Amino acid sequence: MEALAKEKDCSIVGRWVRSICNHLYGAAASTPDGNGDVIRDKWLSVVNHMQNIHHGHGKHFPNCLHPDLGQDDQKRKWLKSGSKACEKLSQLLEQPRLLRDVQKLSPGYQTSKIEAYHSMANHFAPKMIGFSNLGMQSRLYLGSMDFNENGSRQQAFSKAGKPQVSVSYSKYKKRQSVIHLVKTARTYDYVDRLLSRTCQEVGNDQKNCCTQNLIPAPLTHTFKRLTKEDAIARHKTRFSR
Ligand SMILES: [Zn+2]
Repeated sequence: MEALAKEKDCSIVGRWVRSICNHLYGAAASTPDGNGDVIRDKWLSVVNHMQNIHHGHGKHFPNCLHPDLGQDDQKRKWLKSGSKACEKLSQLLEQPRLLRDVQKLSPGYQTSKIEAYHSMANHFAPKMIGFSNLGMQSRLYLGSMDFNENGSRQQAFSKAGKPQVSVSYSKYKKRQSVIHLVKTARTYDYVDRLLSRTCQEVGNDQKNCCTQNLIPAPLTHTFKRLTKEDAIARHKTRFSR
């Protein structure tokens, strides 16, 4: 869409990019049962909507859900049916490959949570550093405990009871403002629980402190080394065939 907006007579497309991206999320998020046909028809309704047509869309989503636009109508940059910008943008939005993907959109599951978890794991066990097996395991456990405690924090409220948000401007989003919800402060209760449990275990039985048995042998341990003669023989067979 960004590329199309740069073409001759198509600059109006740029005014629609953000709305269309939001509509893609909206189409999936407003369909809790994940019905692919409904999601697809909701998505396609934007082709009519951007031409100021709000009724008579697909079988599974015949009408827009927004209220009557009234006076607002005149302010919007509607696309003229049959214009170059409208034709090209419609083609883009109705691509069969895109529609197949849109049908499979999930209404609830987003990858952002798993990305947040991976980022937390990387914080506790940075990839650039090599850790022992036990070190890696312990760090991943700590990362998981932190994520379980802080991964679903709620939005914070100011003293006046207003929901807190922050605004940033990213180059990636063409310097458009991006709103971030400010979350409640992080907590570290798992550290106290972990410390008291450790003291308890150590007090109960000193043998529990021994970690040697928990560490598996290196993977290369199971690898049988060939003798030099066998290695040479194998090398020769490979080339003589
Ligand atoms: Zn509409």
